Amino acid sequence: MSDTIFGKIIRREIPATIVYEDDDILGFRDIAPQAPVHVLFIPKHEAIPTLDDARPEHAELFGRLMLAAAEYARREGLAQDGYRVVMNCREHAGQTVFHVHLHLLAGAPLGHFGA
Ligand code: ADP
Repeated sequence: MSDTIFGKIIRREIPATIVYEDDDILGFRDIAPQAPVHVLFIPKHEAIPTLDDARPEHAELFGRLMLAAAEYARREGLAQDGYRVVMNCREHAGQTVFHVHLHLLAGAPLGHFGA
């Protein structure tokens, strides 16, 4: 499994505030939140470093990541006002943890982003 800090969270070797879990996906609060709600969704059984490493056989898993975020947002009452999901890939996007993860940002109007 993943040798990153997220692998340790999956194995419960370091603490995290887990807010979502199903057979394939774990969701936990970001340690340095960039919005009032900032949750990371990660695959539990596949150590895919970046989106660029995704292959056709991972299509369902990536769909599940998106649906996990959407389900969490609905459950927490975030869907009506809206939210953002982001996946950073490598250096120019600022990726720091090389276990693919989907950021869910919500809870206030979000600024636009980009270069
Ligand atoms: P960036 O660090 O630029 O946001 P990533 O897209 O790789 O790049 O996101 C990694 C995220 O993981 C960061 O938002 C960071 O705050 C978060 N993070 C790092 N360590 C932990 C941890 N132990 N628990 C929860 N979140 C963490």
